[in-house]
Amino acid sequence: MKLVFLGPPGAGKGTIAAEAKKVYGIPHISTGDLFRANIKNGTELGKRVQAILAAGDLVPDEVTIAMVEDRLEEDDAKAGFILDGFPRTIAQADALAGMTQLDRVVNFVLDKEAIVRRLSGRRVCKSTGRTYHILYNPPKVEGIDDETGEPLIQRDDDKEEAIRNRLEVYEASTAPLIDYYRTKGLLVDIDASKSPEEVLKSMVEALS
Ligand code: ADP
Ligand code: ADP
Repeated sequence: MKLVFLGPPGAGKGTIAAEAKKVYGIPHISTGDLFRANIKNGTELGKRVQAILAAGDLVPDEVTIAMVEDRLEEDDAKAGFILDGFPRTIAQADALAGMTQLDRVVNFVLDKEAIVRRLSGRRVCKSTGRTYHILYNPPKVEGIDDETGEPLIQRDDDKEEAIRNRLEVYEASTAPLIDYYRTKGLLVDIDASKSPEEVLKSMVEALS
């Protein structure tokens, strides 16, 4: 199964992908996670993109496309994958069409107030990327990762000004992909406002 998860930042794509990858036995490939791993490891790519991510802007297409192309060539992605956060522009979608043939594109639909509530309450474990929400999915001990015991942090781009910018970037550059994929007959709309369990269930049903 070759899937793309499309939708605004904070719609729950990463949360659902972490469960859906077990259902389908395919890797979860998040371009945001790949960039953050490069930043953490101090690679050349990481140095190049650090300020871009902090501001909530998009990394240039050619850099992003090359990174995804490399990742899709790895053995575990041969049978299928969940691409989360890619493509984010028409140019990226055209490039992806030249790399592989998708089965479906899942469009996570959520209104703006809910998006802002989810993003502003998001907390993450820096070393594992595990995601929590202070109200909707709190850790067992406040501020501490359940598995590693490390302190949870708020991503720089989940602070107010970057959130505003990311939503503008989404509307201008990424939302046009909804029509792009609908025209190709690949789009499946999912109501992302329900609990994670319900969102996963309705997606699995819609894809079967
Ligand atoms: P979220 O899950 O909140 O939508 P991501 O983790 O997907 O955020 O992405 C974080 C940041 O990484 C983006 O704001 C952007 O700077 C960069 N990024 C991720 N994917 C892409 C992409 N496909 N094209 C350009 N930049 C990207
Ligand atoms: P995305 O990958 O689309 O940016 P995330 O999966 O990181 O979104 O989710 C954003 C925030 O919302 C996180 O704090 C997460 O715990 C929370 N969240 C995700 N899905 C749901 C849901 N169905 N209901 C309530 N909160 C959710």
